[in-house]
Amino acid sequence: MRILVINTGSSSIKYQLFDMERAVILASGLAERIGEEQSSLRHKAFIDGQERLGQYDRAIADHHQGLDLIVELLTAPGVGVITHKSDIDAVGHRVVHGGERFKAPCLIDEAVIAAIEENAALAPLHNPPNLVGVRVARQIFPQAAQVAVFDTAFHQTIPAEAFLYALPYELYQKHRVRRYGFHGTSHWYVTEQTALFLGRPVEELDIITVHLGNGASMAAVRGGRCIDTTMGLTPLEGLVMGTRSGDVDPALPFFLADQLGLGLKDIDRLLNKESGLKGLCGHNDMRQVIEASHNGDEKAATALAVYAYRIKKYIGAYLAALGRLDALVFTAGIGENAPQVRELCCRGLEGLGIAIDPARNLAPNHGPRLISPEGALVQVLVTPTNEELKIAQETRKLLNGGR
Ligand code: ADP
Repeated sequence: MRILVINTGSSSIKYQLFDMERAVILASGLAERIGEEQSSLRHKAFIDGQERLGQYDRAIADHHQGLDLIVELLTAPGVGVITHKSDIDAVGHRVVHGGERFKAPCLIDEAVIAAIEENAALAPLHNPPNLVGVRVARQIFPQAAQVAVFDTAFHQTIPAEAFLYALPYELYQKHRVRRYGFHGTSHWYVTEQTALFLGRPVEELDIITVHLGNGASMAAVRGGRCIDTTMGLTPLEGLVMGTRSGDVDPALPFFLADQLGLGLKDIDRLLNKESGLKGLCGHNDMRQVIEASHNGDEKAATALAVYAYRIKKYIGAYLAALGRLDALVFTAGIGENAPQVRELCCRGLEGLGIAIDPARNLAPNHGPRLISPEGALVQVLVTPTNEELKIAQETRKLLNGGR
């Protein structure tokens, strides 16, 4: 079965084509600046163990043209990885917001499209472009099954005590204001991979997953079911991120409006685009923050300390929520590649059974790996995430009747 996974943004299409029987990626790529004069498409084809790169800089008018161009590259004589677009059996779509309705991946039909549309108010920046991807893919691959995998679905097992905000109850009932959480596909994948790596049934494990990319979130997972997560109604809540503040005093917007005369749009931009690591030290990329901190930049060192302290606080909170802990798992760009950040997050937690072995933490390795000392109470791991593969796996499972 060949499955194309696509993640459609307002001006981009990120894609990967999988051959599920052979368990390999056939091609991947990213079309960007769609609708602008200078669009670009970076394409990688994997043929006979070799990577073939393609860079195409031509104007791509819209997502339909973008996906047409992707099909052209996937089927191009000589460098193509399939002969015809009908070789694609299914398209797996990343859809950001499934609201309370979607607790699992599902086959896309008109009713599902209408429900995703309904959730657009909850994710105005993401659901509309995700739907553009769905509509275009249905036109271009009429023979293929279309499956939606939601970022929010894994968190739908969170109990009311953890998903309700202490606000007037009708805000939840009438306007669906509650914690949803995001990055669910990553937390789900990493949870399962960790159980596989530890050789134990996921049902027996209490795990905290720490996803640290440009966006960042944590999840408390009991027996494979999420019981709490740090992102909320929107992806702004929780951890310190590249440009997002994470948790702040909810009265902050009133202060900014009263004292600085900022309007709603200014405050939105300040909290989402100008805060986090960038706000604290001027760099939103963790590599630059670490380098600046090494070079004696005090603001960068402070930004790192604030970043790690927030994570440490949530480790404590989730340890309490779970009541016990088998594994603490780091993943995504920073979680997988920044030993210094992992060390800072766990420093001083030995009394809770959480410790890091310095040599293991520094050892380069690409798969799941243990970084806690032998015999530690809590297994601390790095488990690489792969949201696209998880979307492909779930798509196949749905088409195979749950297997
Ligand atoms: P996204 O959320 O966009 O998928 P990623 O998971 O790719 O993001 O993570 C991006 C972050 O990972 C950036 O802050 C980047 O600096 C950081 N990162 C990547 N490689 C390293 C590294 N070797 N050391 C420290 N940080 C890294």
